[in-house]
Amino acid sequence: MLTDICRLRRAFSAGALATMGVWLAACGGGGDSGSPPSAAPVEVQLARQLQASGLEKNPQFSPVITALVNEPAALAQMDQQIVQSTSASYLAGRYTNTFNRLAQRASIARVYVQVSSDLACTAVPFGGGVAANTLMVLDGKMLDLMADVANGLAMRESGRTSLSLLQIVDLAASQQMSFSRFCQAADPLAFPDASLTPGELDRSVELFTQMTGGTFFHEFGHIWNWHSLAKLREQIFVPGGGLFTYTSVIEDNADIISGILNAKSGHAQSSAELAYDLMAFTVIYRRNPGGYSFGNTTSWQTQYQQTSPTYSSLATRKALLSSGFSGWRSH
Ligand SMILES: [Zn+2]
Repeated sequence: MLTDICRLRRAFSAGALATMGVWLAACGGGGDSGSPPSAAPVEVQLARQLQASGLEKNPQFSPVITALVNEPAALAQMDQQIVQSTSASYLAGRYTNTFNRLAQRASIARVYVQVSSDLACTAVPFGGGVAANTLMVLDGKMLDLMADVANGLAMRESGRTSLSLLQIVDLAASQQMSFSRFCQAADPLAFPDASLTPGELDRSVELFTQMTGGTFFHEFGHIWNWHSLAKLREQIFVPGGGLFTYTSVIEDNADIISGILNAKSGHAQSSAELAYDLMAFTVIYRRNPGGYSFGNTTSWQTQYQQTSPTYSSLATRKALLSSGFSGWRSH
């Protein structure tokens, strides 16, 4: 089997494999006689590059001006479109300390991040966040929910509530995502900051930082690895190409980078996994307020369901996160 995989590996160029995000370790040498030592798997290459400080953009890529398109100008336009679609909902300074902490932990030089009070109320009503060429916009509603959940989890760890994780999330969601809170930000309501001890609050800040890392580093992955450029080129080569203008390869790659940077930041893998579940939960809950529970998200039916061609199933996305963690830890 391994030999078959190694043959497959030699059949494709390194670039094609990188695009597919294929993990191929242990080829070359040993029983695979006659083959030269192989290049490191793409995840490991990414992990090595991400060990550098001051990260902003993957230096292996750059936009060019061709007969078909002026890529630098087109990329600037993609940034502009995101800003135009979301800027009315920006909350200046919200969660800035958390983003600064994450940027410092992962050695990201410059962070262009905005928080939308509720991304579902903008012209780009997508999930946890959107990223263009140099900037990202995160869904404040999801972050507010995570902050409430982090408070609940900190109280649970200190033994001051016996509520389960599922109950904590459902309770926080019933408050944060009630009709009266649509399109608005809210500080923790189910587990207010004032009800926490100083120790619990410290722990909650850490849990929230790590959960935010799950989505923040995913969006940073889009920026760092030039995914807007990839999308642009797909659109040029396959005009009106449906799925080919936004395949799950791009999202899968951002998930691997999220795993790498969360590992680099010293975060628990469980925090990033919880963030992914909460991200999916926030999107689905808003379509069925009151009729959906976190237990639905964590059920195996939901975990293994692929609901769109753009995103892998939650189970697969967690496996991609995990490969990022492994890539970092082994190098
Ligand atoms: Zn994404």
